[in-house]
Amino acid sequence: MAVSSSQGHLPNYWKSTVMNAVSKRASVAALDPGPDSTAKAEELISYEPATGEELWRDKVSDVDDIVKRARRAWPAWAAQSLANRMELVRRFANEVRKEAEKLASTIARETGKPMWEANAEVENVIAKVEFSIRAFAERTAQRKLDNAMSGKMAVRHKPHGVMAVLGPSNMPAHLPNAHIIPALIAGNAVVFKPSEKAPATGELLMRCFNHAGVSAAVVQMVVGGPETGQALVAHEGVDGVLFTGSANTGIAINRKLATRPDKIAALEMGGNNPMVVWDTPKVNDAATLIVQSAFTSAGQRCTAARRLIVKASMYDDVVGEVKQIADRIIVGGPYDEPAPFMGPVIDNFAADGLTESFVYLLSHGGKAIKHLVRQDEDLPFLSPSIIDTTGIKDRPDVELFGPILQVIKVDDFDEAIAEANNTRFGLAASLIGGTPQEYNRFWANIRAGIVNWNRPTIGPSHAAPVGDIGLSGNHRPYGYYSADYCAYPVTSGEMDQPRAVIGVGLS
Ligand code: NAD
Repeated sequence: MAVSSSQGHLPNYWKSTVMNAVSKRASVAALDPGPDSTAKAEELISYEPATGEELWRDKVSDVDDIVKRARRAWPAWAAQSLANRMELVRRFANEVRKEAEKLASTIARETGKPMWEANAEVENVIAKVEFSIRAFAERTAQRKLDNAMSGKMAVRHKPHGVMAVLGPSNMPAHLPNAHIIPALIAGNAVVFKPSEKAPATGELLMRCFNHAGVSAAVVQMVVGGPETGQALVAHEGVDGVLFTGSANTGIAINRKLATRPDKIAALEMGGNNPMVVWDTPKVNDAATLIVQSAFTSAGQRCTAARRLIVKASMYDDVVGEVKQIADRIIVGGPYDEPAPFMGPVIDNFAADGLTESFVYLLSHGGKAIKHLVRQDEDLPFLSPSIIDTTGIKDRPDVELFGPILQVIKVDDFDEAIAEANNTRFGLAASLIGGTPQEYNRFWANIRAGIVNWNRPTIGPSHAAPVGDIGLSGNHRPYGYYSADYCAYPVTSGEMDQPRAVIGVGLS
């Protein structure tokens, strides 16, 4: 589903934010640092999307100083007992509980998401601690194998050293924390660069670690934008890069590390996720799951449903019901009453890009079922939108990170599976309705790390691995498997005394 040159002008937004493939058309400027990113900004300012007001500002950090400090602190942290490190992250969870209100309101103000959703994000930050402790014990457990005459064989794990954690804007506390906690438990020092759009949230998270007793050198934050991220990735003192963000940035990082196989990289990237609707009498439930999947967080979830693939005979009922529910969605600021279902997108740049993308789809054969509406040109509030793109040849395979749901009508199940797989991404997919046999076929044939049945595409549990294949990741699932990339296994043959004989070949 490559974007062909016959499609004419492509929205700039795709090149800079959503990414237009690794195809030759991909803007090199978007993948390379480019002129903007070499110009060093002195200060970073974070604005509230819902009001446009300034929320936070600070000086851009000196990456070199911070990484050196982390390197000095790391050996002592790695030498602490695992029990100690676990105790400290549990104390961190308690600090987050104490600061829950403040953290939630900072997340809500900085991202624009409703308070109920910011509260849920804080709960996820807390829950991640126990999941990670359990996962570390299970995934990296010490093992001893008896090896008869050769003594014992032991398998133990060691931390990598200093890990750079690069966070996204959409879940600025939970998602970086999902790397930070397992990295710390494993004995790594962490240098965390929050999204330039959510540094205030990052700062609060750091404060919770420090109040819990994790030294301010073991987990530190760097303030800055993409150029600071680049400096961190390239720094000699960084042993690994744990990234959550767009495919565009993930690919840039992957390229940067192409000659550095010694640095571990876990890249959790975007998606163009399909949801297939097959036979079901429960049309309202199906439509509710679709709306939740497509429009929660104003569509700013990596796992959000972007493409609704519907059996022709179900089309009118399902799409009609989805529209009816979407028409009732309240869009508003974090503190509005009644509580909104969704807030704004992250900034005006994103809102402009999504609007441009919707217009692009319309002008290339898409049929609007529900238009994308922006009430105020100066603020990034968008309405949920639905567009039938069945008629678009060469449908662009880009992640539209906002409240745009594309609908594609199909006649048979094979076509539905082919359409669902018609993407280079591979994050999440859901089948709604269908028989157990159809679900088996769906599960067996869909290329994605999350394949659900009668469940939304969003909201993966960290009690399980969150896998992402294709352009959605580099085969380092996070969630329950984060422990795997935070420590490396060391195999040791061991005997308490030297004992050896040479049986042949000696005179
Ligand atoms: P982004 O790629 O713009 O930024 C992510 C981080 O990378 C930021 O801290 C940014 O400063 C940094 N960065 C940017 N350019 C860099 C470079 N060249 N080198 C090093 N660092 C650089 O992403 P975003 O817009 O903040 O977040 C939204 C994206 O994240 C969406 O694509 C979404 O699908 C994805 N996401 C993925 C997951 C997942 O689990 N797979 C989860 C949440 C979000």
